[in-house]
Amino acid sequence: MGSPVIESAELTKSYGSTTALRGVSIQALPGEITGMIGPDGAGKSSFMKILLGLLRRDDGDLKLFGGDPGRDREIVRNRVGYMPEIFSLYTDLSVEENLRFSFRIHRGDPAAFQAKRDRLYRFNRLQAFSAARAGTLSGGMKQKLALSCALMHDPELLVLDEPTTGVDPLSRGEFWSMLKELKASGMAILVSTPYMEEALQCDRIYLMNRGEVLAAGEPRRLIAEFPGTILEFEEQTESPQDLRRRLHREYPDYPVYLAGRRVHLSLPGDQPPEGFGGRTVEPDLEDLFLSRILASESA
Ligand code: ADP
Repeated sequence: MGSPVIESAELTKSYGSTTALRGVSIQALPGEITGMIGPDGAGKSSFMKILLGLLRRDDGDLKLFGGDPGRDREIVRNRVGYMPEIFSLYTDLSVEENLRFSFRIHRGDPAAFQAKRDRLYRFNRLQAFSAARAGTLSGGMKQKLALSCALMHDPELLVLDEPTTGVDPLSRGEFWSMLKELKASGMAILVSTPYMEEALQCDRIYLMNRGEVLAAGEPRRLIAEFPGTILEFEEQTESPQDLRRRLHREYPDYPVYLAGRRVHLSLPGDQPPEGFGGRTVEPDLEDLFLSRILASESA
């Protein structure tokens, strides 16, 4: 793998009295999908906006392709493709006009547009819709068009802020296949998502909550190295919510949370102590994340 495309160390950011980033250290490498995973308010968008030079950091170091994105705007303009959370498509323009517009704002050579457009049509399969107004496309097609616009200038780094929020599962799957194709070409991809099943598709993840990185690494390795024991509880006579509340009262020192229709209790150590009940299950990423979040919030 090449040298890191993104390197942040102890990045901090506050908006007045709200702290959005409390010392975030993140690396992203070419040919990898790096995931920032976390719920609303975790600080994912703030990090991306600082990375893109749209916001200033308060403190900490940040390198983008070895330079400072806050000072050197050309790095972002020339080498980074950005797909914001709210797609910035021109709904009254056609699919093709949206592509052309992105190409122009990145100062692409007009003679190269058609070849570039045709290559993207092969990738996104939107050719049949080239004359359709972007506003009339389905959610999944809008998402592919927004991705294509971000790729018009052949970026080396693609930054995607919750790109699949509000998109149906089938389109989400297709979208992730496209990201994998891009990474195979050597592109670095930084993507934020609240979805654990998407986290599993990343090469390296940063689990974030309230401006902090709670765990970082290769997702399957994080699960394999989870240092605790998960007990699963299920009751016919009690709703999962009531069961969770009861277990929380009984065991206030341990994270207790819903896992579908069941309730999980997370214990430190790999041997469940006597007298808890429930059954031991293999942890998944959600267990790891919720255990860490609840433990950090009660600390
Ligand atoms: P995420 O993308 O993970 O949802 P954000 O970076 O958007 O997280 O938000 C992190 C925190 O910063 C939240 O508490 C949010 O309310 C706050 N925040 C984000 N943008 C602003 C802003 N422009 N002004 C004030 N607070 C903000």
